[in-house]
Amino acid sequence: MNNASIGPIISLDEVIRPTQLLIDLRIIKENFLKIKEYVKPSKVMPILKANAYGHGLIKIAQLLQDLNADYLGVAVLEEGILLRQHGIKIPILVLGGIWGNQIPIFLKYNLTMTASSIEKLKQIDEVAEQLKVKAIVHLKIDTGMERIGVHYYNAKDFLNAAVKTKNVIIEGIYSHFANSEKKDLSYTELQLNRFLEVINYAQKVFKEQPLFHISNSGAILQMPKANLDMVRPGIMLYGVYPSKEVQKSIEVKPALTWKSIVVYFKVIKPNHPVGYGSTWQTDHNIRAVTVPVGYGDGYMRNMSHKAEVIIRGKRYPVIGTISMDQIVVNIENDSAYNGDEVILIGSDGNCEITVEELADWAGTIPYEILTNINTRVPRIYIE
Ligand SMILES: *Cc1c(COP(=O)(O)O)cnc(C)c1O
Repeated sequence: MNNASIGPIISLDEVIRPTQLLIDLRIIKENFLKIKEYVKPSKVMPILKANAYGHGLIKIAQLLQDLNADYLGVAVLEEGILLRQHGIKIPILVLGGIWGNQIPIFLKYNLTMTASSIEKLKQIDEVAEQLKVKAIVHLKIDTGMERIGVHYYNAKDFLNAAVKTKNVIIEGIYSHFANSEKKDLSYTELQLNRFLEVINYAQKVFKEQPLFHISNSGAILQMPKANLDMVRPGIMLYGVYPSKEVQKSIEVKPALTWKSIVVYFKVIKPNHPVGYGSTWQTDHNIRAVTVPVGYGDGYMRNMSHKAEVIIRGKRYPVIGTISMDQIVVNIENDSAYNGDEVILIGSDGNCEITVEELADWAGTIPYEILTNINTRVPRIYIE
């Protein structure tokens, strides 16, 4: 077959997949400005790990750079490198640990390192000396998460070692909360108090005062006294609250709509089961439509028999098990046509499906729903 027989070559943009994430950058901007206003004079380090919680690393970073964000936070070195390769010039802290021979790469891309032990700090100092540069470092203190960082009760030795380094700029000292999105803030108080003691010591031993920071979304919303020099909002920047019980002291709005279209319509007869495992069937004729989205896109399979979608302003149940690439929706006696919009997350008129609802159906948290939406789903930006 030659190309002539399939007509003129058209651009990929014209045949882009109808299963899409629409991301409203105006809403992310509003959310950011609200957070900034609420915490001022503290600085703000928006967190962009895991593809900016699914919203697209580069676009979100460009937006925040244009809005003069003080700092950006990512989880792994590769995310930081990608940002530098796409023209992001503002400071970037990599929150995860350092391993192997990463230190020269951090230095090459001017990324801020997290030092989580005296040993790592000394390695950074040595490599920076060899390369004749100054490394910018934030020290990580563990106040009750038991992941990475020097325990608060060993922090004095860590800080003393930091003061002695010659080629390291200790620009920040930080910790992380384990329970700040809970109603009961006693553990968060305990962690903050442990961190305040470390700060107290740091203020004595450092000539140049580092930036102290500990607050994630939960703490920004619930414990303003923990704002300190800088805050690190992640999920709330995208308009999603970190838990149901958290105080919604800042009103943020979700920036993302996940939509697809109807690609197939049929009538399903009684006793004709739907999908893998034949887990669902009716006792009467129903109308059903097929939608090209599945767990291969991050529409999680364990939402089967619970999930709903919106078509023509009304909610309908997903029937049968969710496949890798397709779902079937029961519209009973209603009408729907090929090409009709199907909303998986988002709203149409009075009808809304939230990230939180998907998290409930899947037995998980909103964070996992957002970060699971695969790169196979094109991101479309509303500027
Ligand atoms: C992910 C993360 C954050 C942001 O957390 P949210 O709950 O999404 O606000 C802040 N700090 C660190 C160290 C993180 O890993």
